[in-house]
Amino acid sequence: MFGAKAKFKAKQWIVALSIALVTFVGVTGWQNNSIADAVAQTSTATELQTIAQAPAKPEGNVNLQAAGLKLQELGKGVYALVSSYDFGGDSNYAICNAGIIIGSEGVLVIDPFQTPALADLAFATVKTLTDKPIKYVLNTHYHLDHTGGNPAARKLGIPIIGRGLIREYFASRRGSLSGAGELAAPDLVINADTEIYLGDRLVQLKRAEGHSSGTDVVAYVPDAKVLFTGDIVFSKTIPFVGDGDIRQWQGSLYRLITTYPDAQVVPGHGGTTDVKGLQEQQAFFSDLEKLALSWKAQGLTKEQAIAKSSTIPDPYKDYKFKPLYASAVPRLPNNLETAYEQFSRSSLIPLVP
Ligand SMILES: [Zn+2]
Repeated sequence: MFGAKAKFKAKQWIVALSIALVTFVGVTGWQNNSIADAVAQTSTATELQTIAQAPAKPEGNVNLQAAGLKLQELGKGVYALVSSYDFGGDSNYAICNAGIIIGSEGVLVIDPFQTPALADLAFATVKTLTDKPIKYVLNTHYHLDHTGGNPAARKLGIPIIGRGLIREYFASRRGSLSGAGELAAPDLVINADTEIYLGDRLVQLKRAEGHSSGTDVVAYVPDAKVLFTGDIVFSKTIPFVGDGDIRQWQGSLYRLITTYPDAQVVPGHGGTTDVKGLQEQQAFFSDLEKLALSWKAQGLTKEQAIAKSSTIPDPYKDYKFKPLYASAVPRLPNNLETAYEQFSRSSLIPLVP
């Protein structure tokens, strides 16, 4: 029993890690043989692919519990589907959080999870809340855990909104998209801040920077003061920074804190929060920057720096996604490696809000 359980846990860990890993591979432009090398160090490629593509099966009835989701009402007609996923969690669980915004004439669904089955679960949940049609699906960025459900939206003829080079990233199967099955790229690409009216209800879509190479979008519902940040916020969760730029990310957090000081916040991962969650994310990166600058002052190599600092600091001990902090797998661009690379480039790179 113990053996089977341990193996199961290892599998889940690998799934989540593989998302981070393949994203990094895409970013650095590694060739496929390097992916295979890296994967071979954790599991066989075949096993990894099988797990990554295994559809979550919330069959028949709407079964949020089986998907590790809780429906939370944040205001009239504004909901979050909050995931309890962590590395080592159930493979049927939705990895990210989703949002549901209901207006007088239609609904916007934010981030349809990592599989079409989970997207269908989100859509079925909408049906339990309103008879209004789903007018749009928004991808807060291109990563698979937020976009793998897109084919379910395409099948229903629901337009999918994304930002920046997102269609190009889908076409080239960048990063975490590389190991996925069927994909559906957004068909509405926004390259400026945008307003959507769901009948009487306004939703503002605003660009953010730092997490996903120019595809981050946040959504704000002014009348309910609810902000969906996508992965600009990982609440009580170690962020995935391997596809990001920490200083740009800090700039976006600064801007969101000053623009939405009294909003309820739905993060991409972790529980719902408010301005405190934005500040905690900011503090996490400040700590990481201080750490990296101390390495630089001591003239440490990347290997020395990581070896010296791989224990998660006390304030973050209870965070989810811990393997993203230190060197869990060789070559995985976890927080420490990314911090080393980005903060040792130059201490003069300005903070750009
Ligand atoms: Zn994510």
